[in-house]
Amino acid sequence: MLTMGIDIGSTTCKCIIFKDGSEIVGRAIVPLGTGTSGPQQVFQTALSSGGFVREDMERILVTGYGRFSFDEADTQKSEITCHAQGIHYLFPSARTVIDIGGQDIKVLHISGRGMADNFVMNDKCAAGTGRFLDVMAGVLNVRTEDLGSISMEAENEVRISNTCTVFAESEVISKLSANVRLADLVAGIHTSVATRVASLVFRNGVVKDVAMSGGVALNQGIVRALSRELKTDILIHKDCQFAGAIGAALIANQELLRQARDNKK
Ligand code: ADP
Repeated sequence: MLTMGIDIGSTTCKCIIFKDGSEIVGRAIVPLGTGTSGPQQVFQTALSSGGFVREDMERILVTGYGRFSFDEADTQKSEITCHAQGIHYLFPSARTVIDIGGQDIKVLHISGRGMADNFVMNDKCAAGTGRFLDVMAGVLNVRTEDLGSISMEAENEVRISNTCTVFAESEVISKLSANVRLADLVAGIHTSVATRVASLVFRNGVVKDVAMSGGVALNQGIVRALSRELKTDILIHKDCQFAGAIGAALIANQELLRQARDNKK
């Protein structure tokens, strides 16, 4: 039984195909978000990655910010529900999930069965999100993917006092012109993000184990800074950015099983 989960985010689209809810047999990620050709591209690329066609998929479930504008799907679910299930699959011991995506931060507590108990979200502001880091990488003329390794070389971390993206951008430019070391500046940027995210996490409390989902979890500098702020280790899986799509495909599988059981009654 093949099920597909698609996560249409603000910045990227992710897609996962599961066989019988236990084995990943197709996947794709496209660096385009909702309102672009990203959803169609990720859908087609994931099908091709496993040598499948649309008709092979028994159920397609879509999640993410752009989930209401994708017609290929059979059904949709919120990101909260899908990230909870996805992280539960990757790390069954996780009880707090910190999802940092392109434009928002969500913190949720999950049960031992991967159900979301409660969640908090950032306000409509780029501070602390992937967008903030992408803007800073642009100012520093480095790739977002390299921020983590650059920050590992820091010796004298620089404090960034502005949380607002626009003000922080000017602050970083003025520090650059004062010849501050790149690594020290990047480490300061990471601490500024981590402080912002930690204040959100503390609203609901830290329940161990703590795991991260979303693309920003791929930045080891953010993980290190956040772990320091929260005073706990953070579980990171190489598929953290796919957590929403994994959850979506697994929920599609559970829905099919439930349907089959109901039909037998
Ligand atoms: P969304 O689902 O909201 O579209 P994602 O969870 O895919 O967003 O995260 C996108 C963000 O992740 C980007 O804005 C970027 O800052 C960050 N990101 C993506 N890939 C990497 C990487 N390899 N290393 C560090 N950060 C990354």
